[in-house]
Amino acid sequence: MLLDYHMHTYLSDGRDTHEQMVASAAFKGISEIGFTDHISLKPVGWALPIERIDEMIARVKDVQTGDTQGVKVKFGVEMDYFFGMEKQIQEILSKLPIDYVIGSVHFIDEWNFDTDVKEYDTIDINRFYRQYFKAVQQSAKSKLFDIIGHCDLAKKFAYYPTFPLDDLYDEAAQTFKKADVVVEINTSGRIKPCEEFYPSAQFLERLAHYKVPITLGSDAHVEQNVGQFFADAIAEIKALGYKEIARFTNRKREMVRI
Ligand SMILES: [Zn+2]
Ligand SMILES: [Zn+2]
Repeated sequence: MLLDYHMHTYLSDGRDTHEQMVASAAFKGISEIGFTDHISLKPVGWALPIERIDEMIARVKDVQTGDTQGVKVKFGVEMDYFFGMEKQIQEILSKLPIDYVIGSVHFIDEWNFDTDVKEYDTIDINRFYRQYFKAVQQSAKSKLFDIIGHCDLAKKFAYYPTFPLDDLYDEAAQTFKKADVVVEINTSGRIKPCEEFYPSAQFLERLAHYKVPITLGSDAHVEQNVGQFFADAIAEIKALGYKEIARFTNRKREMVRI
């Protein structure tokens, strides 16, 4: 079965409505999707203001009870991970009637490396990669999240360290396995400067080696990107021996055949 567990609507930094995203999934033969608008404890322009969470819950409910053209609709969120703010994150998550939560690292200290590109030319990239991989492992160990979002986002703007990444990949894959989290194959990286999925093929090989469970997410911000490059993603994971992907209901994981 095909599912797309990562997408944004106009409520955070997406463009389209829930209905448009559902219609696109139906058209593309995707049987299950999950809405994952951003929630961030730090005030950022691309996240849903905390005061609008009720509106988000109501919108997803509306869609679920309306005509979904055969597409099963799940309620997820993409939650920012900040080291030291685990309690506050847990507090918000515990109040949400969600099926799953994607934990994402978009910040190193006060720097939003996902959007503030200028900084890359002024920082120590080697150090940045080490900080990023530490943070993403902390997010897994926090046990706050069901899915680790775009797990090598540090490469987004195609700045790379001078050292080989093998050891960081291996260590992160072992941490994910130990923390029992699911990692998403986030296909949106292909339309970013790095021009490849998150995680990279080399990182994914390590995840497969340690049998880290995976799922699929397009990270679509517009309806036409729902399920983008999924045929390639599925071929890649099957070639590594994956036969199942994870789906969630009320934060309970279940593996389904692809
Ligand atoms: Zn993200
Ligand atoms: Zn996202």
